[in-house]
Amino acid sequence: MKCFNHIETDAVGICKHCSRALCKECCLDLGHGLSCKNHRDEVEAIKSLIDNNKLVYASQPKARLIVPFFSIFMGLVFAYFGYQRNQSLSLILGSGFTVFGIVIFVYHTINIKKMTTTYKD
Ligand SMILES: [Zn+2]
Ligand SMILES: [Zn+2]
Repeated sequence: MKCFNHIETDAVGICKHCSRALCKECCLDLGHGLSCKNHRDEVEAIKSLIDNNKLVYASQPKARLIVPFFSIFMGLVFAYFGYQRNQSLSLILGSGFTVFGIVIFVYHTINIKKMTTTYKD
């Protein structure tokens, strides 16, 4: 693979923004990846965007679990009383809440795993 700007020179990397091959002279090492001289800001912006996302996810893991746990708890209470008093509507609602809570919980868990594994450089 040859440099995009210097046809004679071997490329050492690829710009994260435009995916052009770059030689030592043309690429900028930003510490977390390479960019060409035109796309330093773009590549930095992507990096800080990802960092911000990671921060948001890392800073409030408990807050995001309140909704599913609350749903599951309410669902179980509903279902329990529905069952006790033989009210099928409460039982159905309760089951619905419980399933809803579990789905949200699983969804969040998968998302957290994605966030922490996908963006390792
Ligand atoms: Zn570029
Ligand atoms: Zn070059």
